[in-house]
Amino acid sequence: MWRLAARVLLGTKVHPLTQRLLAGAANLQCCWWGTVRGTHTGYMSAGIWKVEAPDAEHLIRVQWEDGSESCYPCVWLRDNCQCPHCFLHSAKARKLLFEDLDVDIVAKKVTLTDRKKVSITWPDEHTSEYEAEWLKKRCFSEAARAEMQEDLFLPEHQYWGSDLQLPKMPFEEIIYDDESAYKWLCTLKKMGVVLLTGAAARQGELVKLGHRIGFLRLTFYGPTWQVQDKADANNVAYTTGKLCFHTDYPVLQHPPGVQFLHCIKQTATGGESEIVDGFHAANKLKHQNPQAYQILTSTAVDYTDVGVDYCDFAVQGKQRIIDVDYRGQAIRINFNNATRDTVFDIPAEEVRPFYAALKEFSDLLNSTEHKFTYKLKPEAKGHVPVLPHSSSSSSRPLTPPLQPLVYSASPLSCTG
Ligand SMILES: [Zn+2]
Repeated sequence: MWRLAARVLLGTKVHPLTQRLLAGAANLQCCWWGTVRGTHTGYMSAGIWKVEAPDAEHLIRVQWEDGSESCYPCVWLRDNCQCPHCFLHSAKARKLLFEDLDVDIVAKKVTLTDRKKVSITWPDEHTSEYEAEWLKKRCFSEAARAEMQEDLFLPEHQYWGSDLQLPKMPFEEIIYDDESAYKWLCTLKKMGVVLLTGAAARQGELVKLGHRIGFLRLTFYGPTWQVQDKADANNVAYTTGKLCFHTDYPVLQHPPGVQFLHCIKQTATGGESEIVDGFHAANKLKHQNPQAYQILTSTAVDYTDVGVDYCDFAVQGKQRIIDVDYRGQAIRINFNNATRDTVFDIPAEEVRPFYAALKEFSDLLNSTEHKFTYKLKPEAKGHVPVLPHSSSSSSRPLTPPLQPLVYSASPLSCTG
């Protein structure tokens, strides 16, 4: 079952939902918030006691053997007919054209077979069949929807602060063992950061890791790049100065979901990394200053990035510092002080309140209560830190840093 789950997980689409702010000094940062469409094991086999199509109602009512009841709108049932004419099973995708769907459709005839299958004949004599278990999973009750969403999005989060017990896993196990790969991804999803140990101290290991779960996303800095001190640096990461907590590439419409950094060579002094849980800090801000939180979740901030590297690039973008979902829950942090534009497209009177709100958030990120500091060790074989949740930021070693191979990749965002 583990192998099946891992195969499902590794072979399926995962898209980033959110990000955490990670501040890191040079080592590894990776963040992502993914969602995995996996197997559903929590549902008991479902038997149907009775099915009926109430007159004058555009729905089908199913009574289950356990005494519960589910209602399914006819338009949804017709829309989701699983027959080969309406659904392409090889692609698990709908063939039925939306323009051919009648939103006022009602069932002409409904039959139940062996308490396991519902058949519906539509007014045009088209017939649809639905397995009981398929229907049960898609019940529209609040409880059933919540269970399905939990399966689909693995919503468990573990917020952390300076007391973080950094999750560690052997790199080789991830590469060769499905169960370990599955555990790694689940931990990454839950914690936002995982340290992989024992990778060979050479370039190419991150490519191997990226291909293990998807593909690496190309950026203006090439498929991969080296973080090291460079003359005429085209990125503040290529200097020896300290970086403040940041997430990468907020200028992009789709910022990286996961970033891999590989410490191939560590500096003797300096080289520490700092990471911070941006969601945790965002929740703290929401509690202690709702107005500041409201400003950071609603103000569109201009970002810019111009330079020459893998190619010439000149990009403008807008992001809110804290992205929230439909429930108001933080799902991504978009903060990079280096690429925040001098252009700021808000009224003058709103500027200072914005700065004050951002300062309060920044203070939370930098508090000793929240930030976690560590130093990667190449050791004999090297380290690959993986920060899943989201965002990364920060820091920089005060001396010429290690020379980590940095991957900005969204191997899990394969929805594209
Ligand atoms: Zn059909």
